[in-house]
Amino acid sequence: QNRTMVMIDDLRFDNRFTKSLPADSDIGTERRQVEQACYSRVKPAVVTEPRLIAHSAEMFELLGLESAEIDRPGFVEVLAGNRLLAGMDPHAACYGGHQFGNWAGQLGDGRAIGLGEVVDINGRHRMLQLKGAGPTPYSRTADGLAVLRSSIREFLCSEAMHHLGVPTTRALSLVTTGEEVVRDMLYNGNPQLEPGAIVCRVAPSFIRFGNFEIFASRGDHQTLQCLADFVIATEFPHIEDPSPNRYVALLKEVGERTADMVVEWLRVGFVHGVMNTDNMSILGLTIDYGPYGWLDDYDPNWTPNTTDAQHRRYRYGHQANIAQWNLVQLANALYPLVEEVEPLQDAIHHYADRFQAKWSQMMASKLGISSLNDPGDRSLADEALSVMQVVETDMTRFWRKLGGVDCSASLGAAERTEPLLGSIYERESATRPQISAFVDFAQRWAARHRELGTNDLERQMSMDAVNPKYVLRNYMAQLAIERAEQDDASMIEELLDLVRRPYDEQPERNQFASLRPEWARTKVGCSQLSCSS
Ligand code: AMP
Ligand code: MG
Repeated sequence: QNRTMVMIDDLRFDNRFTKSLPADSDIGTERRQVEQACYSRVKPAVVTEPRLIAHSAEMFELLGLESAEIDRPGFVEVLAGNRLLAGMDPHAACYGGHQFGNWAGQLGDGRAIGLGEVVDINGRHRMLQLKGAGPTPYSRTADGLAVLRSSIREFLCSEAMHHLGVPTTRALSLVTTGEEVVRDMLYNGNPQLEPGAIVCRVAPSFIRFGNFEIFASRGDHQTLQCLADFVIATEFPHIEDPSPNRYVALLKEVGERTADMVVEWLRVGFVHGVMNTDNMSILGLTIDYGPYGWLDDYDPNWTPNTTDAQHRRYRYGHQANIAQWNLVQLANALYPLVEEVEPLQDAIHHYADRFQAKWSQMMASKLGISSLNDPGDRSLADEALSVMQVVETDMTRFWRKLGGVDCSASLGAAERTEPLLGSIYERESATRPQISAFVDFAQRWAARHRELGTNDLERQMSMDAVNPKYVLRNYMAQLAIERAEQDDASMIEELLDLVRRPYDEQPERNQFASLRPEWARTKVGCSQLSCSS
C-alpha cells in the first residue's frame, strides 16, 4: 500500500448510485411519497457545535485519509454534515419494507444522508453516510436525528463486528452535534432531552431488500429493473447472463451472503433485534444497529428489543428463519422481472441448504472438529447447545473455556470439567444433575477428540480463532454511554481498542471477559432496548 494518504478535502468521489439511478425531481425536506426515483437530493442540517468523539483508525487507512486530519477544525465540520466537499452529492434513498411481518409502504432514509462514494485504497467504492444528520423527505413524523447513546452503540458495534469477522457496515467517526434531541426511550411517556450525535457509516452500498420492494409494490417495473441492473453491474459484475435469469442469480447470491451473515451472528451470539426487510442489506452486511444485543447467558429465545417483546419475532434462535422470510419478500419483489416462480423458489431453497451447511461447519469449528458429518458429532453439537440451557450459562465464556479443556485420558472427569463451570451464572446454586450435564458433555467431547487423535494445542488454537474471548457485551456499551454522557469518552476508546482483537487473550483486560455483572441483568440499555434510538 504505497498510495499517499490524502487530506479530507482531496478525497475523490465517484458517485455511482446517484449518477446511475433516477432522482426525485423535487428537492427539499418536505415529507412526501417519492415515485419513480431511487433517491432524493437533500443536504444535511447544519449543527451548532460539532465535536469529534471517536474515530476508526482502520477506516481512515482504508479510505486513504491522513490520520493527522482529525486535529484539523475543518474536519469535524465534514463529519457533522456542516461542510460539503467538492464531489459530494448528498441524498436520501427511497425504500419500503416489511416491518414485523407487515408491509409498511414507503420508509426510506429518514435520518441518513449519503454523501458520496469514495474509492478506497483497494479500488473499492465506499459510500459515506451520515446517520442522524437531519430531516429528509422520508422522515415521516420523526426528526431525522440520532442520540448519543444509540450512536455509540452503532459506532462500537459495527467496528466490533468487523474485527470478529462478521460482514457489516463500518463506522468512520462519531461526533456530537452540540444539540439536544427529545426521546422517549422506552415509549412509556417519559420524553427526555438527550445529546444529539452523528455517525459516519461506510459501506460499498446501503441498498436494502426494501429498495426493491417499494418499486414492485407500486408496479413500477422500470425503476425496479434499473435498480436491479445497477446492483448487478456494481456489486455482482460476474453475473453476466443477459436473460432475466440474471435476477434469479442475484437472488441466489444475496441469499448466500445472507446465510453466511446469519451463521456468523449465531457464532458470536449476536441478535440484530429489528430484522425488517428495510434493515436487510443486499450485500449481506449487518446493517442498522438499533436495539441489537449480545447473548450473555445462552437463551435462543432472547431478544433485546422491547418493541418486539410480545412475539419475539426477532429472537436469537429465529434469525435464520426470518432471513428466509425476508428473502421471500425480495423474491416477490424480483418476480416481475423474472415472471417464473420456480427458479425463484429454488433460490430460496438454496438459501436454506446453504444456511444448514454453513451452520454445521460453524458449529464443528466451535467444537474443534472438522465437520458434523458423523451423526455422533452432530449430537455433540446439539448437546453443547442444550447443556448451556440446563443452567444459566454464559455463551461466550462456555465456548472460549471449552478450547482450554484438556482432552487427555489421564484427567479425571471433575478436573476436566472445572474450567467449563466458570461459564455458569450463580455456580454455587447449581444442582448436582446440572453439573453432571456439563461433566457428561466434557467427557464425551474429550473422548471424541482422543478418538480423532487431535493435537490439544492445535485444537485450542483453532477453537480460539472462532470462539471470541471478548464481545461487546451489552453492559459494556452501556457503561461507555453513561460515561460519555458525563463528558468522558475514554471508555469508548478503550472498548474500541478491546474489540480490535477479540480472539486474543489480552490478559490485562480480563474483566471484560467475565460473566455479566448482576446489576446489568435487567437494566435498561443492557437487557432492554427499544426502537427509540
Ligand atoms: P429502523 O427500523 O430503526 O431502521 O427505522 C425504520 C424507518 O424509520 C427508517 O425509514 C428510518 O429512516 C426511519 N427513522 C427511524 N428513526 C428516525 C428518526 N429519528 N427520524 C426520521 N426517521 C427515522
Ligand atoms: Mg432501518
